[in-house]
Amino acid sequence: MNDKEILKKTFNFHGHICWASAIGTRAGLVALRELDVKRTGVSGELHCIVEIGDHHGAQCFADGVQYSTGCTLGKANIEKAGWGKLAMTLIDKKNQKAVRVSYNPGRHKLVAGSSFMKKRGDGVPPDQIPPEEAWEMVNILWDAPESEVLSIGEVEPYPYEDFGEIMGLKPCGICGEMTSVAYLRVVGEKHMCIPCSGYEH
Ligand SMILES: [Zn+2]
Ligand SMILES: [Zn+2]
Repeated sequence: MNDKEILKKTFNFHGHICWASAIGTRAGLVALRELDVKRTGVSGELHCIVEIGDHHGAQCFADGVQYSTGCTLGKANIEKAGWGKLAMTLIDKKNQKAVRVSYNPGRHKLVAGSSFMKKRGDGVPPDQIPPEEAWEMVNILWDAPESEVLSIGEVEPYPYEDFGEIMGLKPCGICGEMTSVAYLRVVGEKHMCIPCSGYEH
């Protein structure tokens, strides 16, 4: 599968054609290349931290990252940092190294000025804008030289504690509900789920 086919499949998964999921796809592919790993189909190989937040534009970035890397919500190998940023860190758990890739806004004015984005600004839902106009916008980023649209960090050591799937769940010491061990908090001598612990996260 070449990259453009991956992009088309991202849009199919995502539900519409948009620039943010496109650059998320490109960021994911670059991160895989930098770490010299393949898209994953399991939970034990890669982990991704995507820096989007909630209720802001361009969260679509995360779907491109999910589709291209195989780090997905359902496999629990992706998490949101909640910072409202179009960036992602991909972690190779086996080799304990990671790379951060972020959106470089070098061409963002062209994206913002595209007919697609003008219609979006007028409140037209993305799936009601002709696909040619969406592709025209997407290609501004997809066909650009990599360094103009992505900032790529160094591959760096990244100690990653993998809780694994076998020991994945334990009952909370207060409410007794099954909770992922990664989310149990220690309060005194008890392990508690986050709501019982009183911690925010
Ligand atoms: Zn989108
Ligand atoms: Zn509890």
